[in-house]
Amino acid sequence: MPRRALIAGNWKMNGSRTGSAGLINDVLDGLKDRERVDVVVCPPAVYLGTVGQMLKGSGVGLGAQDVSEQEVEGAFTGDVHANMLTDVGCDYVIVGHSERREIHGESDTLVAHKFATAQACGLVPILCLGEKLEDREVGATEQVLSRQLGAIVDRCGIAALRRAIIAYEPVWAIGTGQTASPELAQSAHAFLRGQLSTWDAKISDDVRILYGGSVKPDNAEALFSCADIDGGLIGGASLKAPDFLSIIAAYRDY
Ligand code: PEP
Repeated sequence: MPRRALIAGNWKMNGSRTGSAGLINDVLDGLKDRERVDVVVCPPAVYLGTVGQMLKGSGVGLGAQDVSEQEVEGAFTGDVHANMLTDVGCDYVIVGHSERREIHGESDTLVAHKFATAQACGLVPILCLGEKLEDREVGATEQVLSRQLGAIVDRCGIAALRRAIIAYEPVWAIGTGQTASPELAQSAHAFLRGQLSTWDAKISDDVRILYGGSVKPDNAEALFSCADIDGGLIGGASLKAPDFLSIIAAYRDY
């Protein structure tokens, strides 16, 4: 069975309540052909409830951008428990985004803990992995990807990847306009799938691996036509409905 494509929009810390509502209205209005593509939007935490209400019955999934690693709620000021995310309608949560790894110092261990808590509460983690420019320059890309993926498998077991999505996001391509070439992205995706196959061939075949890093309407089709790229995690371009819609349509067209 071919893997079903997924396009997720990561709105990051952008927008307002009115702006988020306007953006989702425009996306829903423009979405025509969803037969081949699952669509998910990840608004800022405070707008999840508003956007979640608007998405009801639309078939578009709701994702959070982060989750607390805490297994039980309580005195964790500022944290948002996974059960609170499902309570406002989330199906997905991004874990391990490079901005959280870098700006908030999230370690592989913490990311694995968040992944486990999210799954235990019924959320599908979108696990972000990717090398920095300096890793690539010294030829350490595969070592980094393998370490980041291994941390999840060590903690949660390979079976956990049955209910997860992976996003390969080279850090040097995020928000920089410097997209990975389709060949480079494909080779990283194939490497990740190869790593997974050493644990479980079926999971390796089934898991969806998204590409993220400056995906735009004019480069989406070339990336999405690669054998191991199953969709995209879209940052900047997901904030403009026409661009996000063209990226979704790129799947239909190749
Ligand atoms: C991201 O933040 O996940 C991302 C891919 O951002 P951008 O598309 O803006 O590079």
